[in-house]
Amino acid sequence: MPRVHVHPRLRIAPRPDATRVATLALGLAALIAATSPPGRAVASEARPNIVFIFSDDHAYQAISAYGDPRRLIDTPHLDRLAGEGMRFDRCLVTNSICGPSRACVLTGKYSHLNGFYNNTGIRFDGSQVTFPKLLRAAGYQTAIFGKWHLNSDPTGFDAWEVLPGQGIYYNPPMLKPGGRTKHHGYVTDVITDLSLDWLSRRDRSRPFLLMCQHKAPHREWEPALRHLDHDKDRVYPPPATLLDDYSGRGPAEHRQDMTIARTMNDKDLKLTPPAQLDADQRSAWDAYYEPRNAAFRRQAPQGADLVRWKYNRYLHDYLGCIKGVDESVGRLLDYLDREGLADNTIVVYASDQGFYLGEHGWFDKRWIFEESLRTPLLVRWPGVTKRGSVNADIVSNVDFAPTLLEAAGVPVPREIQGRSLVPILRGDTPADWRKSFYYHYYEYPAVHDVRRHYGVVTDRYKLVHFYGSDIDTWELFDRQADPLELRDVSSEPEYATARKELEAELARLRSALRVTPQDPPESEIPAPRR
Ligand code: CA
Repeated sequence: MPRVHVHPRLRIAPRPDATRVATLALGLAALIAATSPPGRAVASEARPNIVFIFSDDHAYQAISAYGDPRRLIDTPHLDRLAGEGMRFDRCLVTNSICGPSRACVLTGKYSHLNGFYNNTGIRFDGSQVTFPKLLRAAGYQTAIFGKWHLNSDPTGFDAWEVLPGQGIYYNPPMLKPGGRTKHHGYVTDVITDLSLDWLSRRDRSRPFLLMCQHKAPHREWEPALRHLDHDKDRVYPPPATLLDDYSGRGPAEHRQDMTIARTMNDKDLKLTPPAQLDADQRSAWDAYYEPRNAAFRRQAPQGADLVRWKYNRYLHDYLGCIKGVDESVGRLLDYLDREGLADNTIVVYASDQGFYLGEHGWFDKRWIFEESLRTPLLVRWPGVTKRGSVNADIVSNVDFAPTLLEAAGVPVPREIQGRSLVPILRGDTPADWRKSFYYHYYEYPAVHDVRRHYGVVTDRYKLVHFYGSDIDTWELFDRQADPLELRDVSSEPEYATARKELEAELARLRSALRVTPQDPPESEIPAPRR
């Protein structure tokens, strides 16, 4: 077991297995026993601080450092982070939806082991071991502000203030120990203010973990009022698949309900204003949207023109939210600079999953397909991670917990299924790094009608099984020949060998990850709360 207090820059990277302790309970007990009580005998400069900035539904296509060909937005502060650290180009989530992703991040385990399968009313078991708890036991100060979305109260934090459920954009109520509070202002600013305020009041003798978790840019994509005119009425280039008809694919793609064309409602499209604005805010809102909505009603576009109008309105609003998130990142980086903390602070930026910005005609997430499977990940770790580096290995949100534990010199419990990214951050991907990845989505029946599915992902292929009472289909995609994932080749003879190999790999992964043969019974999954 590595010593708790040795800075990772000063020691040889241990093999992942060597960092793991026998059992979770023993691991936590040993850690607590081996760790000085908070505030004593810990050299804070020896261990890095951690600022973990986490947004909700932030598509990598909407970070300029990722170079989407549409060039949708400039995100100078996120780009700064990428330029001063490492950009991960293939960070995949295990289950592409809000709460489950958060549970995977906290526990380093897949949904079937952390118990938080979907967003439809489950409560996260807060008695589980999480990486913030382990850091706290090792002497870190820990805090979380913003979106939580796990239904139970946060555990493992010295300070927390979180949005109830999904949260709202303007004048948000929030929950904190002992009760409910209400803020005036824009949610991204409120969460950033709370984060900076906590940093300014922290115990400077100890390292810290700050989790700053934004609601933005989640549906219904409501920007800060100062950002309403951010794009000067730009007409956005559409993706190649905006008018996708799902030919070449099976019933799952045909039966979904998450299209810009059919699914978006008046609130999504800002044809109806949000209820929570005060009088001044409402005036600013109306001054922007009313004339544009009047022009839309006058022109009354139809068919593909209507889809393109909705797409443009969607991107205006979504990207306006990103402006706020980017500013938040800038404020946090500025604080670290001002306080002289930047050199010994790991800054992580990620989203709970990716998102469709019109690809396949969609908004939302859920699918094993690329835009929702992939999430942005930027990590700055001065002195360890080369500036401006780019990594294309398959990494995952279950890797975040072991990474941050190893970075802090804290043993990684054996039960954690992810693997530390520390060697990769040093620029040295282990020879046995994963070449395949297991994905599993459970939230059906539910909003958007995306069927349950699981599958295996490699650099080239995706083999996916859609399953349930009304569906039992397999699809295979060859991203090398079909990068937009438009053609199921599972029945084509020339792919028979590849399919067989992928089936074997899928079985191996399900066994290694201890995937339960049956999903939790339907009776344990309450009806969607919306
Ligand atoms: Ca989300």
